Amino acid sequence: MSFFRWSLLARVLPAIAAAGMVHGHALAEVSSTPSIVHAGQLLETPGHAPLKNVSVVIVDGKVQSVREGFIGPDAAGLPAGTKVVDLSNMFVMPGFIDLHVHLAGAGPGDAAVRKPDTYFALLGAKNANTTLMAGFTSVRDLGSIGYTVFGLRDAIKDGLVPGPKITASGDPISPTDGHADNHGYREEVMAAMPRRGVCDGPEDCRRAVRAAVKRGADVIKVMASGGTLDESDAPTDQQFTDEELKAIADTAHALGRKVTAHAHGKGAIDACIRANFDSIEHGMWADKQTLQAMKDKGIWLVPTVWPIDYVGDTDEKKRHGPFKDLPPVSFAKVLALKDQPKVLAKMAHAMGVKIALGTDAGVYPHGQNAHEFIEYVTAGMTPMQALTAGTSDAALAGGIKHVGSLEPGMAADMVGLAVSPLEDINSVLNVPFVMRDGIVFKSSGVEVARQQALIQETDVQDAF
Ligand SMILES: [Zn+2]
Repeated sequence: MSFFRWSLLARVLPAIAAAGMVHGHALAEVSSTPSIVHAGQLLETPGHAPLKNVSVVIVDGKVQSVREGFIGPDAAGLPAGTKVVDLSNMFVMPGFIDLHVHLAGAGPGDAAVRKPDTYFALLGAKNANTTLMAGFTSVRDLGSIGYTVFGLRDAIKDGLVPGPKITASGDPISPTDGHADNHGYREEVMAAMPRRGVCDGPEDCRRAVRAAVKRGADVIKVMASGGTLDESDAPTDQQFTDEELKAIADTAHALGRKVTAHAHGKGAIDACIRANFDSIEHGMWADKQTLQAMKDKGIWLVPTVWPIDYVGDTDEKKRHGPFKDLPPVSFAKVLALKDQPKVLAKMAHAMGVKIALGTDAGVYPHGQNAHEFIEYVTAGMTPMQALTAGTSDAALAGGIKHVGSLEPGMAADMVGLAVSPLEDINSVLNVPFVMRDGIVFKSSGVEVARQQALIQETDVQDAF
């Protein structure tokens, strides 16, 4: 860093510190005004029967209390004129949580080497808004371009743009030629492309995990097997050694992060179980023995069923969107999956493996995430079990605090549905009401809170 930049930093840092703003969160978090939500039905705690005709009292973006009947500000001890939201004809439940999205992913093709990070940051903001409007108030982003997702996460937190709360991994940890390495270009071209998460050998992989945390990772995502959508012809089985996986998991845990693995082949999944990973993404070719080992160790499965349905399933004619032009080597791998995701989800659920909702959004268009709830019901879950997988269990599996239920003290993250999803699970596909941290972002199916969510201009000026 040049002397000029150091001197500039020296001038700016005291101002930031004086304003009580350190560690990357320079702007005040958005706070909501108190409000009361009248809920015809309220799924306060997923897994328990919904309450009827109750009022949710919201202060400082959190649920303060849940009261019987439809009460006014007076009875809630809030000032007259406190906003009352009438959802007395709706089914109200915690905001949905998706543990596997790619808000600012490049998809196939070479956009990642042609466009600047700012392009992907704006793309991420658009996708984040779409995801929030679909009822997802928290997501875990397991791979976006460069540093974009960290900026997006913080910008949403600061109220600059609307979106769900984000738990982010940044660049996944991958071995050379693994799923997150570069493929398909001349060697000298690939050498010039970023490959931040790539590591080989236990020592190098410890460094890669520490570097990810230093960049801002909330969670460590590991490419433990090859993938279907990359152009490598490496098998979708174990690629990191046991020693490497253990080094990664131990380092992540030592730094207070959960570690989750993209793993398709049985060998890769078994190795991650041995290394004490917290969860397995996809897990396509897990057999009964592998699933039993996951169950015994309490390792979560995030089965991602909907994207494979969307990308093609067994029918080549069903190729969609950006993936219709997949390279043959990639599409062959997708077709080889056939209906395995559905078979796996069914088998895992029947065996009692813990399942949390994740969708690989970005493989299919953002905003369709709720289709995964329906996939789980098709796989044998009751609607209540599916809703739990996408709320309180997802929060538990992801280690995401203060979300997943609407008990007092939890974030006021909620959706209102016209029809009870316990009676018709398809109801989750149409979300007319969305609140996050006590701020209404969608009401009667219309986006309403962009202005409310935006931070005051004066706050920005105060920061500098
Ligand atoms: Zn993914």
